[in-house]
Amino acid sequence: MRIDLHTHSNASDGTDSPAELVANAVAAGLDVVALTDHDTVAGYGEATAAVAGTGLTLVTGAELSCQVDGISMHMLAYLFDPAEPAFAAERELVRTDRFRRGRAIVERCRELGAPISWEQVQRIAGAGAVGRPHIASALVEAGVVASVSDAFTAEWLANEGRADVPKHETDPALAVRLVRGAGGVPVFAHPGAVKRGRTVSDQVIADLAAAGLAGLEIDHTDHDDSTRSRLRDLARELGLLVTGSSDYHGSRKTVRLGEFTTDPAVYEALVAQATGAKPITD
Ligand code: AMP
Ligand code: FE
Ligand code: FE
Ligand code: ZN
Repeated sequence: MRIDLHTHSNASDGTDSPAELVANAVAAGLDVVALTDHDTVAGYGEATAAVAGTGLTLVTGAELSCQVDGISMHMLAYLFDPAEPAFAAERELVRTDRFRRGRAIVERCRELGAPISWEQVQRIAGAGAVGRPHIASALVEAGVVASVSDAFTAEWLANEGRADVPKHETDPALAVRLVRGAGGVPVFAHPGAVKRGRTVSDQVIADLAAAGLAGLEIDHTDHDDSTRSRLRDLARELGLLVTGSSDYHGSRKTVRLGEFTTDPAVYEALVAQATGAKPITD
């Protein structure tokens, strides 16, 4: 069983359509793939239709933008009821604020001499929940930086960088309650991804565990070996599940589907905790 529990389609900042993502997951030899777009479930319908007849199992999910003590972080949510109103309203709040903030970042970039426009960013993002990776692609198109990852520096879009503007982000303890309230299972995404900016303390993770967090995503491209082993110890101490996943973004990042995977027993444990939705098979 090859299980990848974190991927993005063009419903957020990935480049594959949900149907292409499903086809690519099949081609990559995956048995289970989770669709976890940022703050949106807009890709569910197309992904669900594409799974039919492939033998692939689709886990519906999302990755909620969170912040605690001024530190941005991401909460994965699996198999929640997308119609549950309280969690749906919070996703909507984050998505809406992404537009205000996207325009503000473009404005900052222009003040800093980058010849990009909001129309260009909207063309790149299409119907996707707009985010910094779309603006990064605009900076690449404009020849300001050589690659999307080169745009995530203090000079441009990195957290607290010159052109970064904060967006509404949910307190993670509230996120855990909202996800559980919608019958879903919350997993802290890449908790030790220091290259993205400051990371939260072990105490914050312990508090989230007490609030109902189910697991930590540890096998991730942004974690080095020592970070993984430190987080594994913490997960053991706190009784948290340990997941692994690619955080695939299509051609916007270099990581491949299935580059990191989740143990089948952990997957079964996650599914067993979910009451909001079931994995979709055929
Ligand atoms: P946003 O959701 O608009 O705040 O943008 C955050 C997204 O930017 C993340 O989900 C990643 O896809 C991407 N990102 C963050 N840090 C980096 C980085 N250092 N290199 C490449 N992409 C990044
Ligand atoms: Fe992303
Ligand atoms: Fe993330
Ligand atoms: Zn992600």
